[in-house]
Amino acid sequence: MSSFCWFCDKHLADPRALYRASLWAGADRVPEARPHVVQAAHRKYVRIEIPVASCLVCAHYRRRGNFGMWMGPVFGAVALPLLYKLALERFAPGSLPVAATPYDTFMIASGIGAGIGFLGGVVLALILSRRPAGEPRPRLAQDHPEVRRMIALGWQWESPFSD
Ligand SMILES: [Zn+2]
Repeated sequence: MSSFCWFCDKHLADPRALYRASLWAGADRVPEARPHVVQAAHRKYVRIEIPVASCLVCAHYRRRGNFGMWMGPVFGAVALPLLYKLALERFAPGSLPVAATPYDTFMIASGIGAGIGFLGGVVLALILSRRPAGEPRPRLAQDHPEVRRMIALGWQWESPFSD
């Protein structure tokens, strides 16, 4: 096993920065997991984690990217209902939709906001995790040979979040 970071192939891997790639499979048809250990078994699916060597620098960029991914939906879910409320008060006072209680309206606006926020979060994550110009793009965990091998066996790549 290489002691270099899989992602940048430039710095030494650091155990504190170890990345764990989560892979899932339906509980009714679990592919071969060895040498990995099944981490979590739910009624419908099981999960394994593939360790991927990483350096602290790459871990730093992953954290920044994740922050963006989370902040988008959270911000959207809060901001959109507020904007909606302000817009109603400003442009159509006293006209909350009759069918919906103000609470329903807020929940709907919150859901839509989270959806829009998710897209914003993707953009924010890309911006925050961008590396200085001239640095080569890091490799993807999905391309790690062991991750590829397990996916070929029938495991599924999991989440948009990378830590
Ligand atoms: Zn690295």
